[in-house]
Amino acid sequence: MEETHCIHPLYGDTNRKGLVRDRSLDTVAVRGASLFEPHTGAISTPIYQSSTFRHPGLFESTGFDYSRESNPTRTELERTLALLEQGRYGLAFSSGMGAISGLIKLYRPGDHLVVSEDLYGGTYRLFNEYYAPYGFSFSWVDTSDFAQLQGALRPETKAIFIETPSNPMMKVTDIPRCAELIHGRGGQLIVDNTLLSPYFQNPLPLGADLVIHSGTKYLSGHNDTLSGFIVLSDTQREQSLREIQKSEGASLSPFDAWLTLRGIKTLALRMKKSEQNALRIASWLREHPRVDQVFFTGFTDHPHYALSCSQARGFGGMISFYVKDPGDVPILLKRVSLILFAESLGGVESLITYPLVQTHRAIPEAMRKATGINDRLLRLSVGIEDGDDLIADLADAFTHCGKE
Ligand code: PLP
Repeated sequence: MEETHCIHPLYGDTNRKGLVRDRSLDTVAVRGASLFEPHTGAISTPIYQSSTFRHPGLFESTGFDYSRESNPTRTELERTLALLEQGRYGLAFSSGMGAISGLIKLYRPGDHLVVSEDLYGGTYRLFNEYYAPYGFSFSWVDTSDFAQLQGALRPETKAIFIETPSNPMMKVTDIPRCAELIHGRGGQLIVDNTLLSPYFQNPLPLGADLVIHSGTKYLSGHNDTLSGFIVLSDTQREQSLREIQKSEGASLSPFDAWLTLRGIKTLALRMKKSEQNALRIASWLREHPRVDQVFFTGFTDHPHYALSCSQARGFGGMISFYVKDPGDVPILLKRVSLILFAESLGGVESLITYPLVQTHRAIPEAMRKATGINDRLLRLSVGIEDGDDLIADLADAFTHCGKE
């Protein structure tokens, strides 16, 4: 399959490089916000492994007082994320769920949020099991269907929360249209941008108000740390979120901030290789006689391909697919050897996941059925290994199907 080239509506034909203020996204990813550490010239941001900071005098501060509130390693990471996402502020949390838990506290009991029904199961669990009982209400809809989205709005709707592309069904929601819709009612658009990373998509310049990341995925990129982010440009909301972060304490540790900074340095290279591999594997899977359907936004006949090209600079490295026979699922999960059967995405190592019993188990059966998450669905997070080796691994695993 030929590689597809997108002409981005904001940046034009950027060769897939988002322009971040005066530097390209590739450069910001490598050099961070500060380029180098100003006090010593250290190239690698030092890990300020200190819980507290000496005050020069009464009512005086170096700018850092206590690490739950702020820490120099974390600050460098937060500024880097803000630049990568073209926002003014970044906040780093101990995980993606830590970030989403912080964000939801911008809202109050009685508020209503419209949420993508096809999204990470942990977000569903947090909202439905822990916030709904306190008086928040949520409508779960296919946000890629604008009529459904419009129909779900209520007078008390304060936000739309989307994942695009959705996870695991790879549907694409129109970011500018959603932003216009919710702004017309004084609410906010929140986008979980984990799947494409800022390398391929920047929701803020497209009209979103808040961007969420599980930094555990592509940003860190090595399956070795958890982290989470909120990026935004509104100063008042940023101050509220800082207070929430300080009060709740789910701030990212200095060492995990450093690991994430180090991971981000190679974001551009990893995203390109992962997407290249995903394009090949998705096309190969599509031709396999035991595979029924492949979901990948990079297929030119994907129903949301044109929308994808209009708002993203690439398609990422995530693929979902149905096998014809549910009996193939346990065999494939057992027989892959290079690809690992594990629950995450976005790392250099390729992972295969069974959403029904892993990432999306918290979603009720009826909703899973409606979205297409069934016992034949597998999800691949394509890493940066050699593409031929990955295809050979899948081909070998398929040879055992129907025989065991
Ligand atoms: N958002 C998405 C799209 C995810 O896939 C995940 C985790 O899988 C999260 C948020 C939660 O992030 P974390 O696992 O870092 O808490």
